[in-house]
Amino acid sequence: MFSGFTACPGLFYATSAQDGILSRLRIPGGILNSQQCQAIADIADNYGGGYVDVTNRANLQIREISQGINSGVLQQLQNLGLGSHNSAVDHIRNIMTSPTAGIDPDELIDTRPLVKNWDDYIAAHPELSGLSAKFSVCFDGGGKVAVSDRLNDILFTTELIDTQVYLRLHLGLIKSKPPIDTGIILLPEQCLSILAALADVYLHHIDINSQRKPRLREIVNSLGWENYLQQVEQRLNFSWQRCEKFINTSSQTKKEECFSHIGVHPQRQENLFYIGVVLPLGRLESQQIRRLGDLAAKYGSGTIRLTPWQNLLITDIHQKSVIDVQNKIAEFGLDSTVTNIKSSLIACSGKRGCAASATDTKGHALALADYLETHVKLDSPINIHFSGCEKSCAQHHNSDITLLGVSDGLRPAVGDRNIESYHVYVGDRENHAKFGRKIYQYVSFAELPALIEQILKVYKIYRFNHDESFLEFVNRYSITQLKDLLKSPKICVNLR
Ligand code: SF4
Repeated sequence: MFSGFTACPGLFYATSAQDGILSRLRIPGGILNSQQCQAIADIADNYGGGYVDVTNRANLQIREISQGINSGVLQQLQNLGLGSHNSAVDHIRNIMTSPTAGIDPDELIDTRPLVKNWDDYIAAHPELSGLSAKFSVCFDGGGKVAVSDRLNDILFTTELIDTQVYLRLHLGLIKSKPPIDTGIILLPEQCLSILAALADVYLHHIDINSQRKPRLREIVNSLGWENYLQQVEQRLNFSWQRCEKFINTSSQTKKEECFSHIGVHPQRQENLFYIGVVLPLGRLESQQIRRLGDLAAKYGSGTIRLTPWQNLLITDIHQKSVIDVQNKIAEFGLDSTVTNIKSSLIACSGKRGCAASATDTKGHALALADYLETHVKLDSPINIHFSGCEKSCAQHHNSDITLLGVSDGLRPAVGDRNIESYHVYVGDRENHAKFGRKIYQYVSFAELPALIEQILKVYKIYRFNHDESFLEFVNRYSITQLKDLLKSPKICVNLR
């Protein structure tokens, strides 16, 4: 038997945070209708801080809740499909899929039915309440907006073999790394049986009465993944196929694809478009949710899709209405251009929401973005990630620039000044340390905007051409060479 602590907020499992009680609405596939938008805005106003945060699993969090949400309201949310009808399983992690499922011109399969099947199965099987809250499942339909690099316990990717679409099974075996290919390929209709069997083997090997639930990878690694999969196969009434070529590598999404959903894009449906809207740090004021819901109902199909990049899409907009909708989005104080620095800005809860944080990550991230908007003109998205401690909750994959919060008091020469500061990392962390390569340390927040401005300007001046990404650029240089470039006559901060 295994044990391990797990704690995740849910609609019926509110948890404490620095800024009050936190409740999470589980939105399978991240898809909302306009009626749900109105209900969410009401609950954020009546119980929370008047806003919601989109998470990196395309959930919604309501924060700053000061009083319990009454049972009538919970029932109403359940009736609207904003909570599982079985509260015992509502804590299980949101089911992830591409936000463009069913509308992506490049996808091989519409994954929405697969999401619904697994969600319905969870709701109908109370014994799954024994699963770890972090038991996470993702379906990638093979479209342009890929989600296969997201961290999940179980991932299905899609491939076409002789005109038949197959789902390929991947398992998350290494902490903070994308799932690894098992080589097992399945017909779409076999996915539900596999998921049920994967869950059943897990439940068979844990102490079901313990509050402490291990992650799936702990069980798989302990049993050995071939052994685990053998036990899964024994529970099936069919045999799975294995690709001869076993690809034991993690599945990756190209960085530029992570932001390819922002802006106006044609759907696979003729004359229809979706618009990707930038949400600064995933936050939406309640009035913005209401207005976006109304907008989606008036000009589209009433559908809003939350993304794992903490932005959203309004879908099914007729070609003739695209400009009107963009103008309305701007009226709501939001933006839909991919080069908006806020489209790829990520910050963890920071000091306002988490006791472990050394810095006010969210406040600093927004202040930095406001500064950069008026000092640097971007022509491609640059991912900037603020983390309040080494845990890096908000982003587990590569960032272009990572800013790790530290207390300046930790710096021996400074004593107890306790200035909120950052270590600055650039580049690809696959081949280097956890956050990439450290280029500066203990940069106070006052110094940070000018430094990041300079880094971005150096990239724009010295890159090979417009197609060279920031990661490719910085990975071409040693840290010493990069620092030399940054010491050009334009330098305007005192760098340590
Ligand atoms: S990364 Fe650290 S500081 Fe930020 S939310 Fe996670 S635990 Fe808290």
